[in-house]
Parts: sequence; C-alpha cells; structure tokens
Amino acid sequence: MALTPQQTQELQKTIEQRRAALLGELREGAERARNDRFEDLAGAAPDPGDESVATLIGDLNHADMGRDLSELRGLEAARGRLREGTYGTCDECGGEIGYERLRANPAATRCVECQRVYEKTHAEPGSTPRSSL
Ligand SMILES: [Zn+2]
Repeated sequence: MALTPQQTQELQKTIEQRRAALLGELREGAERARNDRFEDLAGAAPDPGDESVATLIGDLNHADMGRDLSELRGLEAARGRLREGTYGTCDECGGEIGYERLRANPAATRCVECQRVYEKTHAEPGSTPRSSL
C-alpha cells in the first residue's frame, strides 16, 4: 500500500518536529563546546565575528554529537525525498517502505526486508543489529 496523502503529511510533521528538536540540541551542544573553549582560552579575547560552518561542525564534533548529526542528516535526506515525491520508496529494491516502519523511523531509506539483509551483511561479529535504522 502506498502512503496516503494524509499519512505522508503526518510523517512530514513528525520529521519537522524531530528536526527542530535536534537542531535545538545541536545548537546547545555547539554553544557549550564554544563556552568550554573560551574558558580554555581565558585571557585571550574571543573573536566575535568569523563564525564559519567549519567552526560550528568542529564544535559539534567536540561536543560528541555525531549521533545527533547523523540523525539530522537522515532527516534532511527524508525532507528532500518528500520534496521530490520519492519518500517512502526503498533505496535498495524500489518497493514501498510502509507506513508502520516510517512511523517508527521517518528517516528510513530501506524497506523491512532490505534492512534485514543490510544488517545481516553489514553487522560486525558480536554486535547487536541496529534495527532502529
Ligand atoms: Zn527494499
């Protein structure tokens, strides 16, 4: 069953909300990292301008927020697919991912079957499969 327009709308809302929450967390993390660094540089005058994206990403990396960043990237990709009208289509087999799975993970790019195969072929020995992805 393809997604109904209403289901797509609900998922889009979930994505937007999750994205806003993540962005908030990431900004806070960046701020914390920046403040830490200013403390390290006590005495040196902080440069107020010149804030580049590289700096922000560096801050985020230092704040150990890689997990949030990769989730954010997944959500950004999902928004792109929504715009292009390919949302809900499996990357691997081109089939439908399914509403239930997307509701559990709106950034999913594979259907349940392909995800199972992916986890089987990519799992590290002894590690737990990350079924939430
Ligand atoms: Zn598939």
